[in-house]
Amino acid sequence: MITEPLQKEQGNISVNTENIFPIIKRSLYSDHEIFLRELISNALDATQKLTYLSSKGEFEGELGDLTIRVSVDKDAKTITVSDNGLGMTDEEVRQYINQVAFSGAEEFVKKYSEAKDSKDIIGRFGLGFYSAFMVSAQVEIQTLSFKEGAVPVHWTCDGSTSYTLEAGSRVERGTSIILHVDSESEEFLEEIRLKNILSRYFKFVGFPVEIGGEVINPVAPIWKKAPSGIEEKEYQDFYQTLYPYSEEPLFWIHLNIDHPFQLTGVLYFPKIKKDIDPNRNRIHLYSRQVFITDEVKDIVPEFLMLLQGVIDSPDIPLNVSRSYLQSDSNVKKISGYITRKVADKLLEIFKQDREKFEDKWEDISLFVKYGMITDEKFYEKAEKFLLLKSTSGKYYTLEEFRDFTAHAQTDKDQNYVVLYTNDAHKQDLYIKTANDKGYEVLLMDGFLDSHLIGHLERKMEKSRWARIDSDTIEKLIEKEDTEQAQSELDEPQKESLKSLFSGVISEENFRFETRAMGENQLPVVIIRNEFMRRMKEMNASGGGGGFDFPETLDIMLNTNHPAILKLAESQNAEVAKELIDLALLTQDLLKGKDLTAFIQRTVGLLG
Ligand code: ADP
Ligand code: MG
Repeated sequence: MITEPLQKEQGNISVNTENIFPIIKRSLYSDHEIFLRELISNALDATQKLTYLSSKGEFEGELGDLTIRVSVDKDAKTITVSDNGLGMTDEEVRQYINQVAFSGAEEFVKKYSEAKDSKDIIGRFGLGFYSAFMVSAQVEIQTLSFKEGAVPVHWTCDGSTSYTLEAGSRVERGTSIILHVDSESEEFLEEIRLKNILSRYFKFVGFPVEIGGEVINPVAPIWKKAPSGIEEKEYQDFYQTLYPYSEEPLFWIHLNIDHPFQLTGVLYFPKIKKDIDPNRNRIHLYSRQVFITDEVKDIVPEFLMLLQGVIDSPDIPLNVSRSYLQSDSNVKKISGYITRKVADKLLEIFKQDREKFEDKWEDISLFVKYGMITDEKFYEKAEKFLLLKSTSGKYYTLEEFRDFTAHAQTDKDQNYVVLYTNDAHKQDLYIKTANDKGYEVLLMDGFLDSHLIGHLERKMEKSRWARIDSDTIEKLIEKEDTEQAQSELDEPQKESLKSLFSGVISEENFRFETRAMGENQLPVVIIRNEFMRRMKEMNASGGGGGFDFPETLDIMLNTNHPAILKLAESQNAEVAKELIDLALLTQDLLKGKDLTAFIQRTVGLLG
């Protein structure tokens, strides 16, 4: 076959506007670097296609070196992106570069002029090849197709709507894109700048990408391998590649699905400390190994953002904005799937190795609780492995805890009562009183625990959660058969006791009540009404409608206690004061001058 070199031709691209490129430049100002992402993506596609054809036997030549190279000529002010992929014939240039690109441009301009929010339209529109004009005064293509008898082709365009197509100079199969960088974009003539962009987007692509003689993607993407062949160490090393100098992850999940969408990835569980740091290292989203974003908020469920790692799916479109991604039905399915997988994995570890699970619980509990509060689907699964720790240090699942305590902790109306403390130190006395009754108290002192309690309470039938100091123990779990012996005091005596106590306390937000409790309980007990306290807590965290609830402390006078009985006779104000102060101490409410006065008075008693 005799092949003639291409005759020079010039032509006009049939678009209705002369000024596509100024629009592209201006509108994409903040995102100029994506030109490189687009050109390398094209180079990768061309290389991928060639290896595919080769594997099918449709290309029989040598594949040779498939490295994609980026080079900068500072003097000539050019950037060249070059690949050894399948190249283009002149026909293909006419079809794919002139027609497709420029008809795309037309559509772009149309949409741009209609869109209210330019960012929105830009995000949704893949600029592809001609994003090159974002940084270039002129763009050249030198290409030679792999096809037998193909001749090299040279295409140039200066950003107007006319192009030149002529015989090219390329001698090896593949394509070079030469950008003549415009004066406003000279920052991109710095190799380091380009290298950073390349490392950001192409760290894990399947063909070597080289700049300044250095390959920027030496590490293979672990998520592309079959999980069965990967050692623990590899997962850990890969984690360090993603997040250098991080603490070891706790464990990880290898995601691998073909149907109903394709998705691969590895999610790591990092150690999550007491609270949630929004600036932590985040999940990286990839499409065919090309980085898309680590701004995954609203794409994956919020609680999953506490995890780290990589998600890769060709079903996540490359050239779209975040607002588009959020409403994309594939993306929704994907996030539902990941949620399920994560829950399944946790359940698996829980079932296979309860000890390991308990060991790591402190580190993952925040994640699990956050998930349960915010994601119904996750709740349904996590219900089985949520661990609750009692003040005795033992871990229970919800079901185990109920089995263990329901017998003792069901009140006369058949309500199951869960007793908890949010501060085992401050509420020690109350815990002890409950333990003495044979009750088990849960330690709920985590960052999200007060939210979780509200949530669990709504889910659990005929149950009530009560903080251990929210009432006296007989009232927390009221029993028919444990009626206290009636107090020996009559009504006038009780009234005079109350006024005696009110007289020794200066503040007003106290309410006194007499109550027949056990003799072994303190003479005076302060309780904090569960409902009022929760309203106050909700207010503090921004809920509750802004109404400020003054918290009234209820002070219970134990009319079965000898000290109170004696006081009813003696009406000794000093003793009353001492008893109140002791009660305040148990709640860590005795402070400052009052505390000093109490100590001095008490020391005085001993002298
Ligand atoms: P897309 O990549 O979405 O198809 P582009 O505007 O990026 O859109 O590219 C248009 C077409 O130009 C590609 O589909 C491809 O046929 C051709 N092309 C672009 N770059 C190359 C390249 N480096 N090698 C071979 N063909 C290319
Ligand atoms: Mg492209």
